[in-house]
Amino acid sequence: MSFTRKLLAWYKRNARVLPWRQTRNPYAILVSEFMLQQTQVSRVLEYFPRFMARFPTIASLAGARPKAVMEQWDGLGYYARARNLHKLAKHVAETGDRIPDDPEDLRTLPGVGRYTAGAVACFAYEKPVPTVDTNVRRVLQRAFGSKDVWELAEQLVPKQGERAWRFNQALMELGALVCTARKPKCPECPVRSDCLAVRKVVRIRSPRSAHPR
Ligand code: SF4
Repeated sequence: MSFTRKLLAWYKRNARVLPWRQTRNPYAILVSEFMLQQTQVSRVLEYFPRFMARFPTIASLAGARPKAVMEQWDGLGYYARARNLHKLAKHVAETGDRIPDDPEDLRTLPGVGRYTAGAVACFAYEKPVPTVDTNVRRVLQRAFGSKDVWELAEQLVPKQGERAWRFNQALMELGALVCTARKPKCPECPVRSDCLAVRKVVRIRSPRSAHPR
């Protein structure tokens, strides 16, 4: 599909190097995804390495005192995330299970919603499943005029795991860097020729430009 091909080619050239993109460790991915909920990447870049240095494994987090966990989260906001992450770690440690790779199983864990479940399944285990955060939602709504973005994302996500990983990362990256909430950079967007929002604007504008005042 041309949308996917162009998106992946753009991602290859423009992706930011982020620590959670350099690993497939499910615990590290889980921590990063909890931190990234409602929070800017630049903020998470400050907290993530410190948190991982202090609690390098899920067992170390499970064994930590709540106060120590909150100290590492202090200033990042939305503290329920830290409490849920701690609860999740304890649950995994107590049951002796590993962090699940199936989105439905992931969603049974504390603090894990549909987005985080898809993100962990795809980014840690390279499962070919969709994941829709605010950035992805915006891109898909603009590019395809889609109302049911989850259904569309399900159809679009490549069936091969590693390609699905890159596709989901690329959609998020496009939403973060190009198809931003305010002032999207359409002229430099790799998927502009496939984008419904742009085609509509062109169609609306062309009669006016033909009759300048
Ligand atoms: S062309 Fe513009 S609106 Fe369409 S996906 Fe790209 S940045 Fe977003």
